Amino acid sequence: MLTEKPTVSRSFQRIIGVHTGRKPGPSLVCVGGIHGNETSGIVALERVFDTLAKKDCNFQGELTGIAGNLQALRLGDRYMGDDLNRVWTPERVALLERGGPPDLAPADWQEMTELHAALSEAFERATGEVAFLDLHTSSAFGEPFVLLGDTIRNRRFAFRFPAPVILGLEETIDGVLLEHVNSLGHITIGFEAGQHDDPQSICNQEAAIWIMLNAAGCVDANQIPAAREAFDTLRRQTQHLPAVMEIRRRRPVEKGDGFNMRPGYRNFQQVSAGEVLAETHAGDVAAEETGRILLPLYQGQGNDGYFLGRSVSRFWLRVSYLLRRLHVHRLASWLPGVRRDPDHEACFIVDKHVARFFPLQIMHLMGFRKVRQRGDTLIVSRRRYDLRGPNDRAS
Ligand SMILES: [Zn+2]
Repeated sequence: MLTEKPTVSRSFQRIIGVHTGRKPGPSLVCVGGIHGNETSGIVALERVFDTLAKKDCNFQGELTGIAGNLQALRLGDRYMGDDLNRVWTPERVALLERGGPPDLAPADWQEMTELHAALSEAFERATGEVAFLDLHTSSAFGEPFVLLGDTIRNRRFAFRFPAPVILGLEETIDGVLLEHVNSLGHITIGFEAGQHDDPQSICNQEAAIWIMLNAAGCVDANQIPAAREAFDTLRRQTQHLPAVMEIRRRRPVEKGDGFNMRPGYRNFQQVSAGEVLAETHAGDVAAEETGRILLPLYQGQGNDGYFLGRSVSRFWLRVSYLLRRLHVHRLASWLPGVRRDPDHEACFIVDKHVARFFPLQIMHLMGFRKVRQRGDTLIVSRRRYDLRGPNDRAS
């Protein structure tokens, strides 16, 4: 089922706005519309800039709003040649910073170059801690949620949101903007606000921006009615959902495989193992395990058919916090079946034959993320800025 493409009747600028407080402080950088069919983040940013312009709220630091994929926004398409939220691999970012030669179609390379420049300028202006918020919507209906690259620093922000926090989604896909910004040492949060054209999604995006501004310390939510209401706006929709979920499966969509999601699935809907979720030319696609479905694909463009997740207890998050504070990852290569990758300093190779006991889960607890999996071999690496940012001194 394809949703009808909305007619686009407005113009878009790369810089949506910059609001600088009288006092120095943290910086929040927000991107809306890195997918061109997701305009709600841009509208929400405009609303927040309007409110800030009208009200003297003792703002500290800076808020920058950036439009992601300008050409796709103008067309109302998710992307042009390549998905602009799948191109930020370390290799390509390095190529772009060297000035090419481009390995994307000219229009995509131009978007990536301009977005990279706009982000770099905002990061370079920052005098304090930098937080980054990437605003998205989905083709399916459902409640809003927060996406997290699981570092202790990101968790501090993510758990300020009264909405489910989803771990591990970025591990299943390469080249997402959040991971690139995370590797620079900034706080990174992704936010999925709801269905693309649902007016509620704009309100949810606005709430997310206020919650981030408050968490960063740019505003005091008690002084701004919209910021105060933000928490209730999200809580009303999400209080029946698990606080934390981990992604366990991603169903990729290959070009020409005829993937067609069965109608009616919503984000967070419970599905059972074996339940037929979609059809392809090769036959039915059944749920690989019981859990909750996220981001079922109901639009023409996109490489992710759906994701399956399940809830994680807060107990395990506390355990992993302790393990990371104790720097237990330094002992990783003592674990059976785990050795350092001789070619990549930050990576470890896990032999799943030897390390049979939930190897990825254990590596997650210590703060590693999956880089890739080949047969029985798992490659994991640690995010550099887990407990401390690039400018924080060692404690
Ligand atoms: Zn998106």
